[in-house]
Amino acid sequence: MRTFLSITSIVCCAFLGGAAPVLAESESTGHITANTISLQPNHPDSFRHFAPELPEMRARVSQINTEFGVHLNEIEPGLFFVTDQIYQSAFLVTDDGVVVFDAPPSYAQPLRSVIEMAAPDVAITHLIMSHGHSDHNGGGYAFADIADLTIIVAKDVADTLAAHPLPGILAPTRTFDEKLSLLIGGVPIELQSTHFHAEDTDVMIYLPEQKFLIAIDTITPGEAPFMNFGATTNVSAYFNSFDTFLAYDFEHFLSGHVSVLGTRADVIASRDYSWDVRDTVAGLMPSFHERMMQGLTAVEFQNANLAYRYAIESIRDACAAAVIDRWQNKLSVVDLWADSHCETTALYNVMH
Ligand SMILES: [Zn+2]
Repeated sequence: MRTFLSITSIVCCAFLGGAAPVLAESESTGHITANTISLQPNHPDSFRHFAPELPEMRARVSQINTEFGVHLNEIEPGLFFVTDQIYQSAFLVTDDGVVVFDAPPSYAQPLRSVIEMAAPDVAITHLIMSHGHSDHNGGGYAFADIADLTIIVAKDVADTLAAHPLPGILAPTRTFDEKLSLLIGGVPIELQSTHFHAEDTDVMIYLPEQKFLIAIDTITPGEAPFMNFGATTNVSAYFNSFDTFLAYDFEHFLSGHVSVLGTRADVIASRDYSWDVRDTVAGLMPSFHERMMQGLTAVEFQNANLAYRYAIESIRDACAAAVIDRWQNKLSVVDLWADSHCETTALYNVMH
């Protein structure tokens, strides 16, 4: 395997230092809206009530190479981590070719450029996709001109893409069902299908020699999980995924989002946070019926949907208050997403 010098950073920060997104002002309707954030500093739901990111998180932020618009770091010999501070991917340089792991469209051309800078004399031979969502692989178009590129996805994902092609995602050339073991340039790469996020299949990508595990749209290192637990389509599988990941012998964990490359400790913290949410909701659910009756009584049995929403929201809010209290000094943005985690879990508990 070839080795390359690490490319360290230059200056930050298009995203973190850029203009804040403009949110709609729902208060203009006059209605009381749950989960509303106002950009007005003195509004009862002002953004100012949310805590800033923790200093420990800020200290880990990857800085952007301004020439290419991405952060690039050789984390193990020949293994490169890439991020634009919002999305993450990786590539491996071997004697037999470059293997690309995911191609986010937010930095598709810069990804091609940094690969060619890091490995100018090595052909790009493989693109391995973690899953079929366009925000992580819609940048495949930047590799479309490469002859004989092997494009590997899980068979379920290939079927989904055949039925519903998404812009920018390249058509697969090789598929597998449950597992696929590859040896590229002498480097073992193990692919394993599982189900923790996407509608069809997610693939864990493992490089045992580099102790490197990819599982996309799972944790956000240093932070509470993204809203609704990474927008999972499978709540139960999401909760169980952490122990699946931890069964691997890994040091680096690429989860696809934020600028920070994860560690084993990050996976453990996310597992403990998520299961604390689950346990907290489980402790509150026995009061669901009582809360529902409170709502029904208050509206004189004229609006059962309102009573149901009240019951769910009151459990959500009690859960969120407890979880924020326990976790806000350990993970960033707990106060921003805890209510979504609690609501997702409460709805899951109603049905299971
Ligand atoms: Zn996704």
